[in-house]
Amino acid sequence: MEANTALNSCSGTARDALSVLNHVFGLPAFRGAQEEIVRHVTDGGNCLVLMPTGGGKSLCYQLPSLLREGCGIVVSPLIALMRDQVAGLLEAGVNAAVLNSTLSFDEASEVERRLLAGDLDLLYVAPERLLTPRCLTLLGQANIALFAIDEAHCVSQWGHDFRPEYIGLSMIAERFPDVPRIALTATADEMTRKEIIARLGLAGAPSFVASFDRPNIRYEIVEKQNAPAQLKAFISERHAGDAGIVYCLSRAKVEDTAAALTSAGIPALPYHAGLDAGLRARNQDRFINEDGVVIVATIAFGMGIDKPDVRFVAHLDLPKSIEAYYQETGRAGRDGKPSSAWMAYGLSDIVQQRRMIDESTGADAFKRVSIGKLDALVALAETAGCRRSRLLGYFGEEVTGGNCGNCDNCLTPPQLRDGKVAAQKLLSCAYRTGQRFGAMHLIDVLVGRMTEKVTQFGHDKLTVFGIGNDLNEKQWRAVIRQLVAMGHLRADSEAYNALKLTESARGVLRGETDIMLREAAPGTRIRASRAKSRRGDLAPRAETKPADAGLQAALRAWRADIARQRSVPAYVVLHDSTIDGIAAARPATINELRNIPGIGDKKLEHYGDELLALVKAADS
Ligand code: ADP
Ligand code: ZN
Repeated sequence: MEANTALNSCSGTARDALSVLNHVFGLPAFRGAQEEIVRHVTDGGNCLVLMPTGGGKSLCYQLPSLLREGCGIVVSPLIALMRDQVAGLLEAGVNAAVLNSTLSFDEASEVERRLLAGDLDLLYVAPERLLTPRCLTLLGQANIALFAIDEAHCVSQWGHDFRPEYIGLSMIAERFPDVPRIALTATADEMTRKEIIARLGLAGAPSFVASFDRPNIRYEIVEKQNAPAQLKAFISERHAGDAGIVYCLSRAKVEDTAAALTSAGIPALPYHAGLDAGLRARNQDRFINEDGVVIVATIAFGMGIDKPDVRFVAHLDLPKSIEAYYQETGRAGRDGKPSSAWMAYGLSDIVQQRRMIDESTGADAFKRVSIGKLDALVALAETAGCRRSRLLGYFGEEVTGGNCGNCDNCLTPPQLRDGKVAAQKLLSCAYRTGQRFGAMHLIDVLVGRMTEKVTQFGHDKLTVFGIGNDLNEKQWRAVIRQLVAMGHLRADSEAYNALKLTESARGVLRGETDIMLREAAPGTRIRASRAKSRRGDLAPRAETKPADAGLQAALRAWRADIARQRSVPAYVVLHDSTIDGIAAARPATINELRNIPGIGDKKLEHYGDELLALVKAADS
């Protein structure tokens, strides 16, 4: 924690904050730094909040908005997020509204009227809307409790979510210098942080940095062989019936993958920018509102998706950076329950991403940054060590002991072997063939295959021909990937992805550099996890006592009904964890029900009797 606000736990604010947390949100206690942040903002301070997805950022501005005079203005880039947050707040009895392009003129006028009348606690506004002269005039006349700038990393031009309209938000500090500003993001790298502070006028304000660890997410990165089959196996063996997100790079692949899953009996829907807007919105709604839908999407999908019970995020293509990987996988398990982040990747992914960078129109400095980010991600994919330690290390956090016990490498440590000789064979093969060929041809030469190309270039005459038949093709691919990850080899996209030696390769060829390679035992990692999931220890699914299962099913069916009637996502009615809590505690009285996390005053009033009746019916 970087803030050094004086702790004064008996202050009036603290007591009021806790009371609002209990009664409005139905939550027993603050999590991590929430309390300190809420106190700081409620007392009128500015700050930057860095917390991972699911860390509980919303309460950091929702509570001060309720505790301070006036209405909290929340700037948020995505309409779906605003809508669902407002639905959740209304359920909890908070006077919340949105101002965005989905409203008619009359609806917007009504919201404006309520703001001026002091009738709103929280107002969610799209950034482009906020910056209109009309809206600025309106805000100038209203009583404003605070400005919360959500997804604040969107101001960063170097980041992966840059939104030009966010740049204009710097005027909030100039125009409303006395209103507290709280910027929130789940993207933690130093450069982004500095940009947010500079652009949103937060110099001198404290940064609250929470741990970025997501202990309930299990990280797993497998070698890509037959990606669709691997994905189907992963879902049906480990996440049957669960909601999940599958990321692909191209629209075509999104369509193909969704179709393949559907024909395998897995309810999957496509989502990409090329789909008709209506269909896209319908698919997103079904994913959010229904139980157990898999959405197959390009990265156009996800920011602002608040669904708490996404049980897995799968990548069929390599993201651009660790930031992007962490943000995308972070959409799993916001509710804190066991979830998976699974990725299948191969050499062609590195080559493809590298080509996208090289072919982009960005400035050289931008390309260099991008290449550095890609390299860090490839190193994560190839590491034999703990994935979580790598991830957190990238964000400047240390993991004690360096073994998390909840990633593939910690659960099934890969075998390492001395790879010096294999590396030398591969590098000298690339060198002797003129550094003009890709992986396929180099492997053909190494294993001594008489292909047309080998004959054409006379590569069967080289001393390296056939010197590598102690390894098979898959093993050689693994060697190449690791040499690329270690930086001894790189794919040159301007020369048909020819593999070229880097400066550091010299040391390897001279035998001065030790090389340890992870054993590529094709398929074994997946088979291992299959065997384990039968025993139940690699499949992180919640345990349900049989006695609870019937009640749980009844509660879910009831929730689905209510959600349909009220046209809100099921989790807005009750979170999974609240349903689990009721099923486990079986409350018999309103007071017992009040003690379940997630049940605030309004939910008790609206649903208390029905919920108690369901418990009673299940008990009889
Ligand atoms: P973020 O915006 O940081 O991704 P949210 O604000 O959506 O996270 O919160 C994530 C989840 O954690 C939500 O389901 C929320 O109800 C829950 N949560 C937040 N704060 C607390 C708390 N103090 N106690 C229990 N649950 C909490
Ligand atoms: Zn680990």
